[in-house]
Amino acid sequence: MTNAEKPEVLSLYDFFKKFPSEESARLYFENKRWANGTYCPHCGSYGVSECVNHKPMPYRCKDCRKHFSVRTGTTLEASRIPLQKWLMAIYIMTTARKGIPSTQMARELGITQKSAWFLAQRIRESWLSNQPENNDKLDGDVEVDETYIGGKESNKHANKKLQAGRGGVGKAIVIGAVKRGGKVITQVIENTRAPTLKGFIGQHIATGTNVYTDSFTAYQNMQGYNHATVNHSAGEYVRGQAHTNGIESFWALLKRGYYGIFHYMSFKHLHRYINEFSFRHNTASLGTMAFIDATIGNMNNRRLTYKRLINA
Ligand SMILES: [Zn+2]
Repeated sequence: MTNAEKPEVLSLYDFFKKFPSEESARLYFENKRWANGTYCPHCGSYGVSECVNHKPMPYRCKDCRKHFSVRTGTTLEASRIPLQKWLMAIYIMTTARKGIPSTQMARELGITQKSAWFLAQRIRESWLSNQPENNDKLDGDVEVDETYIGGKESNKHANKKLQAGRGGVGKAIVIGAVKRGGKVITQVIENTRAPTLKGFIGQHIATGTNVYTDSFTAYQNMQGYNHATVNHSAGEYVRGQAHTNGIESFWALLKRGYYGIFHYMSFKHLHRYINEFSFRHNTASLGTMAFIDATIGNMNNRRLTYKRLINA
C-alpha cells in the first residue's frame, strides 16, 4: 500500500484539536446535517430563526413554530450526553479494532456504564444501515462459512452435524461471506440447513461468482455459482484457490473481541456486535474522519429508544 492510498488516521491529540469544545462539536453536527441550509425537522421548512438564548433548542421554525436542535429527529434525540462525548465515543469505537467494553468507555467519557452502553448500542444501530446488502452483491472470489458464538470452536464441526435440520443448541449461528480483498456480509441465522445457507448466498452473492466453502453437505449442489470446497475434516485447508482463510480470520477477530473484550454478548444484541466488526472491516480503507462522517450520516432520521432497545 502506498502512502497515497493509506487512510488518514486521526490521532487522539488531533481529535481534541479539531473538537476542543461542545460548541465545535455542535457546529460539526450542524454542518453535516444541514449542509444545504438549516431546515425544520418537524415540517421541513427552511424558514428558521435562531433563538437568542440557545438552550436547549437553538432554533425555531417560522412555519410550524416549533423549537428544535441538531439532535431533533435523529438517533441523538432524547440523549443528554454532550455532542463532544458522542464524537469521542465514535472515535473510540472506530479505533478499537477488537471493540471496547462499555465499562471502559464509561471511564474514558466520564459517564455512567449504563449511559455508555446505550450510547454504544445507538452507534452500532446506525452502522446497521450501512451493510453492503443495501448496495451491490458480492462477486469475484467469495468465501462463505458459518461459525458458532458462545461455544467452543472445537465443537464446530460436530455442531454442524447436530444442527443440520435442527434448531440451535444454546449457541448463536452466524454466517458470513467475504469477497477476497473486499467487503464482508454477516447475518445471524436460525439453523444450518441447506435452504438457509443457500438463501443467504443467493441474496448476497451475484450468480457466476467463484464461491469457496468447506465441504459441509448443506453447501453441496449449489446452482448458478462456480463452487469449490476444501475438506477441513480431512485436514485439508488449501487446495488451489479453494480456501476459506479470509472469512476464518474475520471470525478469529470477532471471537477475540467476544472472549477477550465483551466476555458476554447477549443474543438479542449479537447482530449489533457482529455488525460492528463487519462495519469496521468494510470501512478499513476509510480515514478516521470519513468513518465518523459516515456514522453521523446514518444517525439522521434514525431513532433507537432505550425502551425499544431493551425490548428488542
Ligand atoms: Zn417547522
